[in-house]
Amino acid sequence: MLDADFFRRWMAATAASVHREADRLTALDSAIGDADHGSNLQRGFTAVRSALEKEAQDTPGAVLTLAGRQLISTVGGASGPLYGTLLRRTGKALGDAAEVSTEQLAEALRAGVDGVMALGGAAPGDKTMIDALAPAVDALADGFAAARAAAEEGAVATTPLQARKGRASYLGERSIGHQDPGATSSALLIAALEEAAEG
Ligand code: ADP
Ligand code: MG
Ligand code: MG
Repeated sequence: MLDADFFRRWMAATAASVHREADRLTALDSAIGDADHGSNLQRGFTAVRSALEKEAQDTPGAVLTLAGRQLISTVGGASGPLYGTLLRRTGKALGDAAEVSTEQLAEALRAGVDGVMALGGAAPGDKTMIDALAPAVDALADGFAAARAAAEEGAVATTPLQARKGRASYLGERSIGHQDPGATSSALLIAALEEAAEG
């Protein structure tokens, strides 16, 4: 079972890998966007980390809801409201249980991803974070390692696609041949689940 500490470790591990990979995320966003994805998420997850250190949220749902709120209020770019919605919706779907199973997390994350699709209007194949998140949710029944592999594969598979949502879509065919920054950061978020599970 996954408790509030697991979810705090998940957010802390995400913050650490966003910090490590910030330059790469920004470089990807400079090719097909406005070169701020790394700094956007660094600002957001730094706020998440300090909010979680200050407030002792004692359920998985409360941890994710607080994290989502921080992302919405601190990230100016499109990714802030989208990731914020992902975590808030997922947190809301977990309710006030003290511990949740991996199956419950998978179900809640599916509600979160549905929330992102409703907010941003993107479907799989539009070259967005959805292309990493949706396959990861599908694979989560087989464990965190399977979810990580599916997210990484999904992110890599955005390279030949033409963007149909977000800033990259303004480039039309010129968005082809570059990996989507948001799908890349989503793969980091999912990979951090495995780190959280290792303790
Ligand atoms: P901005 O584009 O406002 O500068 P970021 O650079 O932080 O924001 O985030 C860009 C990423 O957000 C994209 O790579 C893409 O994955 C994701 N994104 C943008 N628009 C959408 C959308 N409508 N639905 C889902 N994801 C989106
Ligand atoms: Mg950007
Ligand atoms: Mg921007």
